[in-house]
This record gives sequence, C-alpha cells and structure tokens, in this order.
Amino acid sequence: MLHQQELLAAAAKMLANARHITVFTGAGVSAESGVGTFRDAQTGLWSHFDAQQLASQEGFAADPGTVWRWYQHRLAIVEAAQPNPGHVALANLEMLAPHFSLVTQNIDDLHERAGSRHVIHLHGHIGRFHCNGCETPYTLRSGDREAPMPPCCPHCTAYIRPSVVWFGEMLPEQEMQKAWRAAEHCDVFLVIGTSGVVYPAAQLPAIAHRRGGAIIEINTERSALSALAEVLLLGPSGEVLPKLLDALPRTSL
Ligand SMILES: [Zn+2]
Repeated sequence: MLHQQELLAAAAKMLANARHITVFTGAGVSAESGVGTFRDAQTGLWSHFDAQQLASQEGFAADPGTVWRWYQHRLAIVEAAQPNPGHVALANLEMLAPHFSLVTQNIDDLHERAGSRHVIHLHGHIGRFHCNGCETPYTLRSGDREAPMPPCCPHCTAYIRPSVVWFGEMLPEQEMQKAWRAAEHCDVFLVIGTSGVVYPAAQLPAIAHRRGGAIIEINTERSALSALAEVLLLGPSGEVLPKLLDALPRTSL
C-alpha cells in the first residue's frame, strides 16, 4: 500500500507542476461505466456478426438495416450508463490545470456528461449522425431510433449513418491535429484505460515522451505503453483517479 501511496504522490506532484496536462482515455474508462468494448456488446442477437459486418462501409452497403439497428442498440447502452468517479475526477482536473486537453478513443459522451468541457473524440460520436453520401449532419427524428432501416438524407437520399469512424476509414483530420498538438505541447501526458496497441493510441504517448512530456499511466494491467511511463498506477481508473486528485497539493494548482 505504501508503494501505491508513493506512486500517487509522485504522480500528483507531476500534475501539480504541469503547465499543460494532456489526458488520453480508452475503452477501459467506459467499460467501468458498463459501456463495453465493441466485442463486449456483441452478445445475444449480435454474437454471430463480426466487426467488419457491423462497422465498415462494405458492411453498411451490404446490410444497412442491421448496421443501423446495431448502432441504436449500442447507443441505448451508452444512454443508460452513467459517468463513473474517474470521469468526474478528470472533469475536476480540467478546472484545476492551467492548460488541459482531453483526447479520447471512446465514442460515448460520458466525459461530457461528467462535466469535461473540451473533449477531442478521435473515433467520433455514437450519438451523432450524418449522411453517408453528402455528409450533412442529421438530427434523429421520431421513429428513426426504432426503424428497421436507416433514414434517408433529405438532401441527397443516401442513407444516414452514425458519426463514428469505421474500419478502413480515416480518423477525423481536425481532431487528429488537435490531439497531435496536445501531445507535443504537454508537460504531463496521462494515459488511461488503453492498451496502446492500436493506432494512434501507440503514437500519441510516444510523441509526448519524445517532446519531453512525462507519461503517467493508469491501467488495470501493464500495457505496451508501460515502458514509457514514469509512473504506472495499476488499478481501475474509477478508483485511482479520485485518489490521485485527493493527493494533489491543495495550493499548487
Ligand atoms: Zn445527403
């Protein structure tokens, strides 16, 4: 226990002295709120579909109704979930730090609902929609959620799709640039709940590290990023983050 206390104190000191903190969150943070990963959600009815069928342009072209219903199913899970104490701690940290960036790989809005003001979503938003043809944003209408097929765009008649990044698609350019800048310019880069294997999860901490940012990692187990971490705090982020905020020296931020 003493060891964990010392690590918390070391990490808190780094955060307290930082001018710019960049936080990077992944699936583990949402999983603690009951929003599972893509594969976790593939239970029951959905267990016999594969990811390529449900989250790709090819799968959408082949069976738009199934993809639509899959995303409505996942959206309902997100809406029923609540931010956990880790989300809340990050929203509080944002208010304490001089400069703060939060980059997430998660497509839910749990960070926003916990009070985070500026969230950079690298993989899009499950609660937003746009036209698959002309890309005009679309607001869901009554009946859309339960419909067997996606609605059609009022401008060009192509199908409406969720504004998430599918397999084989580029990450949104603006968000990528913001995330890169946030990694380059931070003093402390806090990696939370991501294994760091998938692009760009592996790159962002490496950029921060190369530019002199100190890496703090919070994960339930060691990851591909742990070698870069100055401090590794093992445990669920919903438990570690509130403790980390409690460990901050009261007057320094
Ligand atoms: Zn359109």
